[in-house]
Amino acid sequence: MDLWYTEKHSDNVGITIKTSKSLFSGNSEFQQLDIVETLEFGRMMLLDGLVMVTERDEFIYHEMIVHPALFTHPRPKKILVIGGGDGGSIREIMKHPEIELAVLCEIDSLVIEKSIEFLPSMASEIDGNNPRVKLHVDDGLAYIRAHQNEFDIILVDSTDPIGPAVGLFEESFYQLVFSALKDDGIMIAQSESPFYHAEIQKNIYRNIRAVFPIVEMYQAFIPTYPSGFWSFAFSSKKYHPITDFDHDRAVTRDFHSRYYNENLHLGAFMLPTFARENITE
Ligand code: SAM
Repeated sequence: MDLWYTEKHSDNVGITIKTSKSLFSGNSEFQQLDIVETLEFGRMMLLDGLVMVTERDEFIYHEMIVHPALFTHPRPKKILVIGGGDGGSIREIMKHPEIELAVLCEIDSLVIEKSIEFLPSMASEIDGNNPRVKLHVDDGLAYIRAHQNEFDIILVDSTDPIGPAVGLFEESFYQLVFSALKDDGIMIAQSESPFYHAEIQKNIYRNIRAVFPIVEMYQAFIPTYPSGFWSFAFSSKKYHPITDFDHDRAVTRDFHSRYYNENLHLGAFMLPTFARENITE
């Protein structure tokens, strides 16, 4: 018998992925966590039944939430990732030798534990062996309140604005992030699908624009996310992702990236009209 995992992207549309077996299924105090083996996307993590990461396409999301900010900020040293318990964002950050410390604040220890156990290609840097990485199991909302003027870059690598992540899309949260950033800091927040989530995006960008002077949406193609058309909010106190982009540093980077490159960095900020209109008041 064939086993198919289906995620509904709207009431009438979804994605269905052929699976071969379940590697883990359990509940934490925050959510249901499943890790399944699929025939075409490798291992896949689900939280409350929604696709979080797959081995085959996670490189796109993790390269694109990390590298645009790190090649725009001239001297990033200390980074905070809120969420990101699969470890993929931390793995990409560690490819930048100039980073002195990356802090991961993930609310659910089960996600970290099972990512280390079943998704080692993503969790390679959060297994406790990297002195440049510090793990916190905490609500990002609580953690951020206790830190002022401390980080060069903060990545909000959270689940969708439901459940434990709902507070991570509010203006009050972005104010706290602004305070936790240094005076030339950058925040990147995953900002859902321009194709399916126009109203959610309007709210996200209204809330971010109320706090940050520079806010630009950029896009990435992520096949297992709703519509495949995904977005991120580049939110900055001082540096602009195009005019302050350090092209030479990106070209001479000493690591291979399968999605991000110095041309795509610029192209990702060129948006289809409807995506631009989603976030125009
Ligand atoms: N790439 C995925 C996406 O775009 O939906 C995100 C993957 S990562 C697994 C999302 C993580 O955010 C989850 O592990 C979840 O536990 C964590 N999370 C949700 N709310 C949080 C909060 N308030 N504080 C810290 N982590 C949170």
